[in-house]
Amino acid sequence: MTNPHPLQRTLRKEVFAQGIGIFTGEKTWVRICPSPAGSGIVFRRVDLEGSSLIPARLDFVAPSSRCTRLSLGDASVMMVEHLLSALYGMQIDNALVEVHGPEIPGMDGSSQEFVELFTKVGLIEQDKSREYLEISSPIFWSEGGVHLVALPSSEYRLSYVLHYPQSIRIGSQYYSFSFSPDRYGQEIAPCRTFSLYEEIQPFIEKGLIKGGGLENALVIRGNDILNPEGARFSDEMVRHKILDLIGDLSLIGAPILAHVIAICSGHVSNVNFAKIVYRNNLKNRDFGKEALQNSHSERTTIVERQGVSENVNFKETPTPPKTDSSSCCGIYQNILQTRSANV
Ligand SMILES: [Zn+2]
Repeated sequence: MTNPHPLQRTLRKEVFAQGIGIFTGEKTWVRICPSPAGSGIVFRRVDLEGSSLIPARLDFVAPSSRCTRLSLGDASVMMVEHLLSALYGMQIDNALVEVHGPEIPGMDGSSQEFVELFTKVGLIEQDKSREYLEISSPIFWSEGGVHLVALPSSEYRLSYVLHYPQSIRIGSQYYSFSFSPDRYGQEIAPCRTFSLYEEIQPFIEKGLIKGGGLENALVIRGNDILNPEGARFSDEMVRHKILDLIGDLSLIGAPILAHVIAICSGHVSNVNFAKIVYRNNLKNRDFGKEALQNSHSERTTIVERQGVSENVNFKETPTPPKTDSSSCCGIYQNILQTRSANV
């Protein structure tokens, strides 16, 4: 494959987005700024004085079963996956993400609005080459009914099998996506996270979900989509799983050349698989100086990348769940937990 973007890229200008935090239910905002070549994607909590920079890398993923969360010291940022997916989807290698609060705004449940913002300000090429992660032999990861495979390929392709027998509307869906920024914007970015009405009905009846829910996700009841505008694609759900997968795998920190096949995976399994792919690749190449080490141990290392220099304290990695194929981003479950606790 001829890479249309051999040089690293960043935003031409900063962009700003605001919305509701899915977990807190509070207004929050992000400012996404250009940053130097080689600095990667880095988050900073601007609401915390003296907050550390948090690289969007596997070493900084913190336990969370319902979303992807990055953490360093006392600072953490939740729901990074849709923004990371948009950044990868547009082939933006370097950006500083300033976030005011503990989570990225949920927007409409997809990555479309971020892509539109990036497209509007434009991108610039930088003076460093993009370094691709290639695999030379198949890599497998399985646990329970969840399977992930990476096969050698000259392109980045993602194929996903979604099996959701508890919903007649979703059922089993399959989608295979050959990556390019244009196709990402057309086929993947508009696809929203989803939830079953039956899962949230008791909370709607108690008045714990008061509007706005249909603005953040697809809600499915029986064979119907409850959102007035309907689904954006008949298979929007499986496409959103690919959106999530792209965001989670971007934590490897390098563009990927492989055919990734995922069956019923979620954020935890995506990240565990990404660690295996990264570790496997370390045998041949080094994408930065952060070497993945064994989990289940306390360790300290130094991250030295342009624009990032922090003492990093790694904490114990949790044992992954047996299955990882339940609800999508768990958006409603988190709304419900938060609102139930507040009632
Ligand atoms: Zn998602």
